Amino acid sequence: MTQAKHDLVVIGSGPGGYVAAIRAAQLGMNVGCVENEPALGGTCLRVGCIPSKALLESSERYHEAKETLAPHGVRVASVSLDLPTMLKRKDEIVRGLTGGVDMLFKKNKVARYLGRGKIAGPGRVVVEGGAEPATLEAKHVLIATGSKSASLPGVALDGDRVATSTEALAYPEVPGHLAVIGAGYIGLEMGSVWLRLGAKVTVIEYLDRVLPGMDAEIATEALRLFKRQGMEFRLGQKVTGARAEGKGAIVACEGQEPLRADRVLLAVGRVPNTEGLGVESVGITPDEKGRIPVDEHYRTSAEGVFAIGDVIGGAMLAHKASEEGVACVEWIATGYGHVNYNAIPGVVYTQPEIASVGRTEEELTAEGRAFRKGVFFFRGIGRSRALGQIDGRVKILADQATDRLLGVHIIGARAGDLIAEAVAAMEFGASSEDIARICHAHPTLAEAVKEAALAVDGRPIHA
Ligand SMILES: Cc1cc2nc3c(=O)[nH]c(=O)nc-3n(C[C@H](O)[C@H](O)[C@H](O)COP(=O)(O)OP(=O)(O)OC[C@H]3O[C@@H](n4cnc5c(N)ncnc54)[C@H](O)[C@@H]3O)c2cc1C
Repeated sequence: MTQAKHDLVVIGSGPGGYVAAIRAAQLGMNVGCVENEPALGGTCLRVGCIPSKALLESSERYHEAKETLAPHGVRVASVSLDLPTMLKRKDEIVRGLTGGVDMLFKKNKVARYLGRGKIAGPGRVVVEGGAEPATLEAKHVLIATGSKSASLPGVALDGDRVATSTEALAYPEVPGHLAVIGAGYIGLEMGSVWLRLGAKVTVIEYLDRVLPGMDAEIATEALRLFKRQGMEFRLGQKVTGARAEGKGAIVACEGQEPLRADRVLLAVGRVPNTEGLGVESVGITPDEKGRIPVDEHYRTSAEGVFAIGDVIGGAMLAHKASEEGVACVEWIATGYGHVNYNAIPGVVYTQPEIASVGRTEEELTAEGRAFRKGVFFFRGIGRSRALGQIDGRVKILADQATDRLLGVHIIGARAGDLIAEAVAAMEFGASSEDIARICHAHPTLAEAVKEAALAVDGRPIHA
């Protein structure tokens, strides 16, 4: 039995936990991190952001080689899919990055404990089920146990034909027909991967729109573009069950014919991971959604116990978890630490990409806030023409009276990179006029951001 004392014990090594552990070590704390998976990096590195983006990239290359190179004058005689190599590349990227976190832990002298961490009373964490049990004493405990796929009543997950995004990252063959339950970003990203590789993809969504929570104008355009790519949608339909049947699966929808598919991907969101964590031993009660309640400094109701990332409220995003991890341990060490939740970007890595920061038009309308809106379409940008990707738009929402940026929403090529300018501008409290007056290199896609800012004031040049 290992016994050790730490200033901080972090439970979970996702982008919240591992970043917090490293920052705390930089600040001079003696840190231990408990992770029950053999690989560090959490959902994000192992079965989330990274492997999904690796497959999105590879499937896009395949699709490009097959469909979009000819107009560039590039003739490709025959293109074929080597799925095992594509999956192996993804696994190697994951291995490299998770191994990188191991190295960072060693460099920063973060002690790593393999096993399930359980809070066993004030200042005490026990590690079970790993190579060696351990009892850790800690001045501070940080819960960063993340989230897991949400279930849906009647949907019988079998880890094969009816499964979650984790399995969809490693289907051994391209499904003939993939049914995706849920039109959020995970369903649309994974649906895009398999669509590009040749599957028929049907997305079933309870709401009458895709990408709930995103700006409706942008989501409507996204739906149009996904349909144009051949993705099929059943919106406004309630899934009442799904199960494996023979070599395929069947999805039951209220008042509709059941849908037969080769595989079913359940992607209806994620729920916090608190099972077996022992939070009750220090008097913490998760809320009705299973989240751990915290205050603005990520303090739980238990003295010395903090929580960050997917396990608390807010957007379930890797960079949000990391920012909270840093703010939390900086607050512990220095008394300062802050996250600006108005400037957390969200990106959907489909083709085209979709990115946003700040308020949506619907939110501003609901709040009764007076705003001005500028929209500019990528088809008016020289670089978009050169790229051969002219779909999409930039939409900027600015305060009616002060012109301060309230929200920026982009659908179009490389939107995920373009949003960084808007995030920086919002962090600096910029106005749309500030963006309009910044010199943007020509020819770049970023010129569409400038033009949208000009459009807020009714003076775009290329529209
Ligand atoms: C398919 C998919 C794609 C995604 N793509 C993106 C994206 O592109 N961009 C983005 O920002 N976000 C993306 N996400 C979301 C992102 O992965 C999460 O928001 C992020 O990982 C949350 O970080 P976290 O540190 O809070 O928790 P996690 O990354 O979930 O890490 C928690 C860790 O804690 C461990 N753990 C849990 N309980 C215990 C315990 N009792 N003891 C020890 N260890 C424990 C878990 O094994 C896990 O490793 C994606 C998610 C999925 C599923």
